Amino acid sequence: MNSSQNYVDGFQIMSKINTHLDAQVFVNKYSFDIIEEYEIDKKTPWVNDLLVELEEDNDDEAEYPVATMEIKAQITRKTNTFLNDHLIVRAQLTSHFHLPCGRCLFPLAQELELSLSAAFLHESQEKKPEYAEVTTVFADGHEMELYFYKKGMADINEFIHEQIYIEVTPFPRCEGECKNPVLY
Ligand SMILES: [Zn+2]
Repeated sequence: MNSSQNYVDGFQIMSKINTHLDAQVFVNKYSFDIIEEYEIDKKTPWVNDLLVELEEDNDDEAEYPVATMEIKAQITRKTNTFLNDHLIVRAQLTSHFHLPCGRCLFPLAQELELSLSAAFLHESQEKKPEYAEVTTVFADGHEMELYFYKKGMADINEFIHEQIYIEVTPFPRCEGECKNPVLY
């Protein structure tokens, strides 16, 4: 083992930041009121899949810089009489990628800076009338996105995927004249 490897290992232990986060997590794995911190990027397969999907409409021949995505997340388990056992997931996402111009397919640089939060409630709560028409819930002192964990698992990937597609510009266009010959 070389010295830089030692440094990296030491840093991870001291800061207690996890660099592994599964797409779905077991709620029972978390202790109540303990915040687990994560820092992941596209070395995590499901994060890479998000980027691949974002760029899937790009022209195969086009050249553009490789996409990046960094996600910092804080996950903690809570319980109270209103929400019962629930998981709070906060995430700060930064991403650079390219989307094709809707007129000429020229790859246009896109940037996302998202600050996200969600509360995952037990699936038995999904049938409650108070959650029928809403997409957010007041939890851990804040209004946040409402999700439900199923079979004991909270789907972090589904939450982040949905929130990305709420923010992404669906059909970007070149500013002014198109950079490629216009196709249609
Ligand atoms: Zn264009």
